[in-house]
Amino acid sequence: MEIIFLGSGAGELWPSVFCNCGACKTAIAERGKHVRIGSCLLVERKYLFDIPPNVNLAAIQRGISLAEVTHLFVTHSHQDHLDPCVLAATGRVDGPPLHLYCNRRVAELLPVYQQFNRFFDPERLNLHINVLEPFDTVGCEEDEFVLTALAADHDTTGGEEPLIYIFEHGGKTILYACDTGWFPDRTWQEIEKRQYDVVVLDCTCHELQECRHGHLSTAPFLEIRQRFEKEGLLKSGSRFIAQHISHGHQGDDLSHEQLVARFAQHGVEVAHDGMVLNT
Ligand SMILES: [Zn+2]
Ligand SMILES: [Zn+2]
Ligand SMILES: [Zn+2]
Repeated sequence: MEIIFLGSGAGELWPSVFCNCGACKTAIAERGKHVRIGSCLLVERKYLFDIPPNVNLAAIQRGISLAEVTHLFVTHSHQDHLDPCVLAATGRVDGPPLHLYCNRRVAELLPVYQQFNRFFDPERLNLHINVLEPFDTVGCEEDEFVLTALAADHDTTGGEEPLIYIFEHGGKTILYACDTGWFPDRTWQEIEKRQYDVVVLDCTCHELQECRHGHLSTAPFLEIRQRFEKEGLLKSGSRFIAQHISHGHQGDDLSHEQLVARFAQHGVEVAHDGMVLNT
């Protein structure tokens, strides 16, 4: 299974617009792995997890087309996970169905966006919105995938229930878990029913500040990693990835290379934009 990290950053993106901190200056000067758009995975070129700003440009710059995407799995309404401008700007009209899976809050907010931007037209886009409640499972026989939505520990403003996902396809199992803090008990129960080839886990706060709720910092991230090992949830040859990497605007942020060195000793890889996994 091919997994492409089109984005690996957090909400403020890296570099951040209008930000003059040291980390942003370095990112603009050196680019490469210093640059992170919002977190986003492209799986088998067909399945897109979250739609951050600039996702199309990020794909183009890596020679990747999003034309084959048929399914969009959105975790929650925050702007780094769902940019309706991307959907409004598409040239694909009257094409094959585009299946969007999301929570109720996202499904309610998207039609409202049409009032703001008349170019967002779900009908012309042939967009089919499927609302998921936490712990719903949906399968698509044609595409042979099973998607299970789990409850995240994240922002519940407006009654939103942010989701994380287990994605099963072709004998492979991925956990896509950002944005979230420590998993709620029922989410753990569901996670522990399976073994994983790839775990992509929120590590927004890494070394910046201690964080167990809403997002994760290094210590609770590694506690989760240990629990996966202890409970035998990782298949042989599995990959465990830190994703949704933020910067603190303090000018003393760890570079990508420093984060890689920090996590390598724990068997954890740090995502960067453009990272490709073949599992
Ligand atoms: Zn986010
Ligand atoms: Zn900055
Ligand atoms: Zn969020």
